[in-house]
Amino acid sequence: MILITGGTGYIGSHTAIALSNAGSKAVILDNFSNSNFTVLSRISRICGAQQIFVKGDVRDAARLTSIFDQFPITAVIHFAGLKSVGESVQQPLEYYDNNVLGTAKVLETMRRANVKTFIFSSSATVYGNPRNVPIKENYPLSATNPYGRSKLIVENILTDFYQSSPDWNIAVLRYFNPVGAHESGLIGEDPKGVPNNLLPYISQVAIGLRSKLTIFGSDYPTIDGTGVRDYIHVMDLAEGHVAALNYFNKKQGFITANLGTGHGYSVLEMVKAFEAASSRKIPYEFAERRRGDVAECWSDPTFAREILGWKASRKIEKMCTDSWHWQLQNLKGFK
Ligand code: NAD
Ligand code: UDP
Repeated sequence: MILITGGTGYIGSHTAIALSNAGSKAVILDNFSNSNFTVLSRISRICGAQQIFVKGDVRDAARLTSIFDQFPITAVIHFAGLKSVGESVQQPLEYYDNNVLGTAKVLETMRRANVKTFIFSSSATVYGNPRNVPIKENYPLSATNPYGRSKLIVENILTDFYQSSPDWNIAVLRYFNPVGAHESGLIGEDPKGVPNNLLPYISQVAIGLRSKLTIFGSDYPTIDGTGVRDYIHVMDLAEGHVAALNYFNKKQGFITANLGTGHGYSVLEMVKAFEAASSRKIPYEFAERRRGDVAECWSDPTFAREILGWKASRKIEKMCTDSWHWQLQNLKGFK
């Protein structure tokens, strides 16, 4: 049985489905700080089985321990954490508390329970301002904000911890830009307030919730002057976690892998793809570059393919169609 912390969040909920598709059972833990309880019934509908859910915070040692006492957990996929770059600059202590201390608590509880397989949600943000693309796992790491630093700190903690406990299995998965939704349209990304990320913003413009997209920067040294990112369908990303668990069924160790497609798309290319998927016009205007943004960021996913036998297969059209499907069916998200 797999414990999914943050399992009612965007990536966690899709991973719960990917695990169920692979025949694995899971326990979902979440404190609903950035999710909605409706997600649980939606996951159950998609999987055709009731989800096992515990409401709680990963920093609550007693609650965590009780999960390991109650269920035969063999591995943990740790999604729980805070993820807004802007918020992390305003509230760094909350980010270190939740993301760093929260992870340490999970590891400590696992050690006591003698559960030794841990999959961690890291991010391409740990590459800072990459000098070259595509980005390989051995490129220099740096942080430009507290969120990114919290991920880097955890990666370092995991490296130290593995030195002391080489019989553990640890996978650090560095996500590029997750987008899209489950094709049922029942679950998807449900940002609170004004979306920070491109795809949710575009999709809210397409549905008429916002009047136009503001494109941050038109003078980057890219194909059309707008920023380029490696967008990956959230179900591909979710399946990457299943691949990591499968890897540890055969091998042991510590692995760090990029989860991306290996292709970059510009903001304008994404607008065009979304217009095609939704048959709606996306009005936009150009504005100054967003502070801290890099021109281009995309992955070299070779290592994940070689070691995990995993490769993203869903194309940009599918990413946009599934986002749109989710948006159309859930005008106000899960509310
Ligand atoms: P999300 O906010 O949708 O999901 C995180 C979930 O964790 C939420 O349901 C939230 O309620 C829960 N949570 C937060 N703190 C908790 C705590 N202390 N105890 C229990 N539950 C808690 O975010 P997501 O997009 O699904 O991201 C999942 C993970 O992947 C995060 O660690 C994030 O930093 C990382 N990540 C996300 C992206 C992205 O673009 N979405 C990119 C790279 C990495
Ligand atoms: N972007 C934009 N307008 C928005 C949101 C994002 O032009 O309202 C651009 C952003 O500058 C970047 C790309 O879209 O070039 C992806 O941004 P996102 O925040 O989704 O991902 P990240 O920059 O964190 O990789």
